Amino acid sequence: MKTNANPMHSAHTAPRCTAKAKATGNRCKSPAKRGWQVCRMHGAGGGAPTGPANGAWVHGDRSQAVEQNRRTLMALVKLARDGAASWAR
Ligand SMILES: [Zn+2]
Repeated sequence: MKTNANPMHSAHTAPRCTAKAKATGNRCKSPAKRGWQVCRMHGAGGGAPTGPANGAWVHGDRSQAVEQNRRTLMALVKLARDGAASWAR
């Protein structure tokens, strides 16, 4: 039977939390949450959900992805409008 459990990769060898104590300057040293630089005590997994799951979501027309698309499109429009004209000179 194949298993993902690796005896050499326990919580002890996991990446450590990068948070530092203000008083002592020592690292937290707790295992960091997967995909995070910090442990669960230092904010990993916290925060509001993004996208429609967020309570402030209204219609999505101003979401990050849409705004990024708009910026890319406007850059292309600007390029087509005066970028090409200045190159042709
Ligand atoms: Zn920590």
